[in-house]
Amino acid sequence: MYLGKIVEASVVDHIYKEPLHPYTQTLVSSIPTVLKEEKRKRIFLEGEIPNPSSTIKGCSFQSRCPFAYDRCKVEQPKLINLDNERMVRCHLYSY
Ligand code: SF4
Repeated sequence: MYLGKIVEASVVDHIYKEPLHPYTQTLVSSIPTVLKEEKRKRIFLEGEIPNPSSTIKGCSFQSRCPFAYDRCKVEQPKLINLDNERMVRCHLYSY
């Protein structure tokens, strides 16, 4: 969840091994591990966290997302069902 909205939902294996949403990718990258095969490159976010009580036009993660593009500023992404096991709220996965 990000600012009160579900941004990704799936089974644990998918979320842990192949997170899709940029915010989920950031969260998963911060999980510490001692296993070599689970080492990940840590992602650090820049940008400001928007005021959750204000109305945000477009995607609520746009001010911190390294992949944000024009559409993200004007259109709020919907939670889309990619298959029976994965749901994500991001324009990178909708057309
Ligand atoms: S919709 Fe845009 S800003 Fe939001 S997470 Fe996806 S790419 Fe980033």
